[in-house]
Amino acid sequence: MIKLPGLIDPHVHVREPGQTHKEDWDTATQSALAGGVTMILAMPNTKPPIFDAATLDLALTAAKQNARCDYAQFIGAGPDNSEAAASLTDKSAGLKMYLDSTFGELRLDDMTLWMPHFVNFPKDMPIVLHSESRTMAAGILFAAIYDRPVHIAHISLKEEVLLIKAAKERGIKVTCEVCPHHLFLSKDDIPAISYGHPGRGEVRPRLATKEDVEALWQNMDVIDCFATDHAPHTLEEKDSENPPPGFPGLETLLPLLLTAVSDSRLTIPNIIQKSAINPRKIFHLPEQPETWVEVDENASYEIHASDLHSRCGWSPFEGWKVKGRVTRVVLRGREAFKDGKFLVQPGYGQNVRA
Ligand SMILES: [Zn+2]
Repeated sequence: MIKLPGLIDPHVHVREPGQTHKEDWDTATQSALAGGVTMILAMPNTKPPIFDAATLDLALTAAKQNARCDYAQFIGAGPDNSEAAASLTDKSAGLKMYLDSTFGELRLDDMTLWMPHFVNFPKDMPIVLHSESRTMAAGILFAAIYDRPVHIAHISLKEEVLLIKAAKERGIKVTCEVCPHHLFLSKDDIPAISYGHPGRGEVRPRLATKEDVEALWQNMDVIDCFATDHAPHTLEEKDSENPPPGFPGLETLLPLLLTAVSDSRLTIPNIIQKSAINPRKIFHLPEQPETWVEVDENASYEIHASDLHSRCGWSPFEGWKVKGRVTRVVLRGREAFKDGKFLVQPGYGQNVRA
């Protein structure tokens, strides 16, 4: 048995409010606990998007009733809410800016719309950027010009990890996260994920080349956090004419990482650093007292969506053989999950910014 700290996932799409047929605070946090994650940071591209006090209240009310693990909620950057967003800093996980196209309505195409957010959002809190390739380079330039931290979401490309490395060496305040699907899958895997439905392979950023994947592994010391970008959509939606991008991932993160440990590609201290210590530091998150995760590092099994707790009902890792199972999760002194059963009710989760 290995004992780990409760993991923090800084990038989760809970889908509540507004799209609870995909997921809600209860099912998302069940997936979290079953995956050894005791704190999630929720993204703001819900319906409606979370961009002011009223919409933040909507998300936090749902979370308070339904969450089984601890959480905080991001505010989304819109074209004219920089002052409202800044005024909600203490109540939010941070500010999320969508600078490239993805699922949902929040997107800022014009750099004049980025500027007020970089000016107004408090400088001790990171701004999280969905920014790919050259847009990411622009985001890092903004961090340098405005002398403030940015956190780059879900890096996937060799050029991205190399530029972040160079920016860090120059002292620019940039941190980054990588998702399990960009570490364990490349675009060559899309046919195997798709089962004849190409929409299942859609994710933003897209799955990259094997060379990109290899560059992420080679530069593991540049990567600050593991984040799932858990983005559930139903199979019906994924297999439709207009498949929305996104993969579920909360519950499969730790088994995949433990399998990489078993294959000598990662170490347990790597997992603790990137899934607990660094996210806590970057997002100024509180300690969770009397909180830990027990895993059976020798348990070998196959991932099947039918065993997972996300409402979306599928996984891009279907059929993968993994080694390492979460057997018990203790959250703030209470057994929250044990041998496949949830022992805390919806509402046990706490807002860590309350
Ligand atoms: Zn996302």
